[in-house]
Amino acid sequence: MKITTKINLITTAWITCVLVIVNIAVFYSFMNVTVNVEEKIMLQNAGEILEDINHGDSDAVINDKLSKYLTNGSFIRIIDPQSNISNQVTNNKQLANKIKGKFTASKESKRYLVTLAQGEEQILVVRIPIESNGKVIETLEIGERLVGLELGKDVLLSILVLCTIFGAIISLLGGKWLASIIIRPVSHMINTMEEIEQSGITKRVVIDQQPKDELQKMAVTFNRMMDRLDINLEKQQQFISDASHELKTPITVIKSYADFLRRRGIQNKEVALDAVEVIHSEATRIQQMTEKFLDLANTESENALDKKSIDLVLLSEEIVKQLHSTYKRNLVLHYEEKPITVIADELKLKQVLIILLDNAIKYSTDQIDIYLEKKENGTVIRVKDHGIGIPMDEINNVFERFYRVDKARNRETGGTGLGLSIAKNIMKQHNGEIKVDSVEGVGTEMELFLPKD
Ligand code: ADP
Repeated sequence: MKITTKINLITTAWITCVLVIVNIAVFYSFMNVTVNVEEKIMLQNAGEILEDINHGDSDAVINDKLSKYLTNGSFIRIIDPQSNISNQVTNNKQLANKIKGKFTASKESKRYLVTLAQGEEQILVVRIPIESNGKVIETLEIGERLVGLELGKDVLLSILVLCTIFGAIISLLGGKWLASIIIRPVSHMINTMEEIEQSGITKRVVIDQQPKDELQKMAVTFNRMMDRLDINLEKQQQFISDASHELKTPITVIKSYADFLRRRGIQNKEVALDAVEVIHSEATRIQQMTEKFLDLANTESENALDKKSIDLVLLSEEIVKQLHSTYKRNLVLHYEEKPITVIADELKLKQVLIILLDNAIKYSTDQIDIYLEKKENGTVIRVKDHGIGIPMDEINNVFERFYRVDKARNRETGGTGLGLSIAKNIMKQHNGEIKVDSVEGVGTEMELFLPKD
């Protein structure tokens, strides 16, 4: 079932329910008010009758006096203590016969439903005690057809039923119109989504500036999602073209050396060994590069970090020890206090430090200094080398993927141009920063900032 039809049916059902409840309340209030008014009038008449008749009056006089108070379709009678009718006047005998007389010592009023020749009728009977010397000696009983109530009840019932039907129809028509207004932006969105699905091209929903409601928010969120998808698609395409471009050179080298070996065979063992050596080193390069591709993909996606409390001094000491035993280089760690605790993903932070130290080792020959400093708003790590440095106009590019300052020089050092991009992504995941300060021929200082968690 369409959502518009659903909204329409639900609102109509609800409005009809409300109308029925309100109409029932109106109907019963009308009945009560009408009966109360009738009762009041009858009691007033009874008071006047009691004042009019005297104890010593003959039956004929009493009947005469009572007759004056008869209304259309009523009876007035006096009941003795044995509930026998001692006097009665009526202009509707059939009605008077239907209701038995009743002696009562206290005032009462009662509604009866009786069947007369013309159909069912509501009769209101009021009974007033007649006292003499402080004793109830008889009861005055007045019974009257509630003509107004019967007439009014039928008319009101028809009006209320008509109103309910009319209300339901208006609600059905109005609901259809309202639902279509509410659903229109959603329909736009569905159309756009279908177009995207069919064409494979991201599109945006046209947004009405007014009103600023949830549906507009939904459209804005949808467009934002599309923007993000576009950026990611662009990034992905850029990455694929960069990566295939980077892989092309070593693969071409491997292929040409393999061709050479196939053509010439291994007649000259020394030349053949050289060729195998080149193939091996290029294959190793491809292997390292693919590992870096995975790292980059991993840090670019917004994977949750496995954050915990880490002693930075201990972690740095461990890395320094590892790199020293591999490269036999002088790495000096500087810090003022111990421990320096940071909240971070240990493996990823270690990866950043190794990237920086690896670069410092590759692009310098002298001592490398590592400074750990605790600041008010976070922790700073600086890796300083005294190597070849980075030319001023290239500094801003070193964090870009596959960017290498001097490609020829990097071939010797085995660089891929991905290390600093990975480091930057990891620092971004930690809401941190990475900065570079370098003077060509003097050295480079890389600075990491980890904010307090
Ligand atoms: P690579 O794998 O090539 O080192 P990086 O992204 O780590 O890739 O670095 C990008 C480029 O920045 C490097 O190719 C290098 O030219 C330059 N670079 C990075 N660190 C240093 C450094 N400590 N000294 C001199 N140049 C550096």
